[in-house]
This record gives sequence, C-alpha cells and structure tokens, in this order.
Amino acid sequence: MSEKTKRCSKCGEVKAVGEFYRNRRERDGHSRRCRVCALQDSNRRRKENPEKVREAQSKYKKKNREKLKVQGAAYYKKNQERCRKARRDRRKADIKKALKAERKWATNNREKRLSQARRRHKENPERRRATARKIRAKLSDGYVASHIRLATGLKTSQIPQSVIDCKREYIRLIRLLKEMKS
Ligand SMILES: [Zn+2]
Repeated sequence: MSEKTKRCSKCGEVKAVGEFYRNRRERDGHSRRCRVCALQDSNRRRKENPEKVREAQSKYKKKNREKLKVQGAAYYKKNQERCRKARRDRRKADIKKALKAERKWATNNREKRLSQARRRHKENPERRRATARKIRAKLSDGYVASHIRLATGLKTSQIPQSVIDCKREYIRLIRLLKEMKS
C-alpha cells in the first residue's frame, strides 16, 4: 500500500498525508503542518490567550451552527464505534468532568432523555429486568428513599438519612421473612 506522503512545514518530518488535517485552501487539500504540530500550535495559542481562543470558537460555532450539526451527525454515524470508544476513554480519564457534563445534559434535555430511556427499555426488556434486579438488590439510598416518597409523599430532601437507614433495614427484614416463608 503506497500512501501519499508530505513534509511537515514545521517539524520537517515526512509523514503520510493522513497525518495532516484537511485544508481546502491548500493545493493538495491538506494542511502544511502535521497533526501533531497543528495540535501543539493550537494548544500553545489556547494557553497564551485563552479568552481570545474561546471567543473565536464560540463565534465560529454560532455562525456555523447548522453546518456543524449536520457534519457532526454524519461523522458520528460513520465512526460510531470510534466515537463511542473515545467517549468512554474521556469519561474514564476525567470521571468528575464527565458526570458533570452528563448531569447538565440530562437537565437540559429532559424530554429527549426520557424518550431515549423508554426506547431502550422497550428494545431490551431482558437488560431492563436485570437492571431492576440490581437496583433492588443494592438498596441504595435513592432506591430506599423512593419507597418512602411513595408511602409518605415527602420529597427526598425532607427525608433524614437516619430514616432511610432505618427503612433499609426494615426492607431487608421483610425480604428475609418472605424468603423464610417460601
Ligand atoms: Zn510536524
């Protein structure tokens, strides 16, 4: 396989053209600098002048909103596996940041999130049951609190931790008694 190569104008290394970002303004359709150098440059700019870079980025995003949306969806469709893996990797690398972003997304996209969950549940009943079993077995604070909410109409914030702990032991006891009976 003979791939076309190109010399990076910055580091001077000869690399496969795939190692250069696309750039329609260049005659051969690829940037002069290799990906590594281009990334280093943009990182440096970001570090030296974070405000300016952010501003330029948000301006660009605003101006090209529709185009970026279409492009992004097409890219994701074509590279689904890779995108998913990259996402998992990012999540692992900075779980706090990821969770914060996920929470923010969930708050802003309540309807979408619910319909997605509904669809997933419908498509995968076995998994749904397995998850339900797991949640039931774990007796987490949230799960126990949901029992109390149902029985009392209280909000989670109104339920003291000691009551949750008490209720958890109560549920355990009831389950144990049921098991003994059967
Ligand atoms: Zn280079």
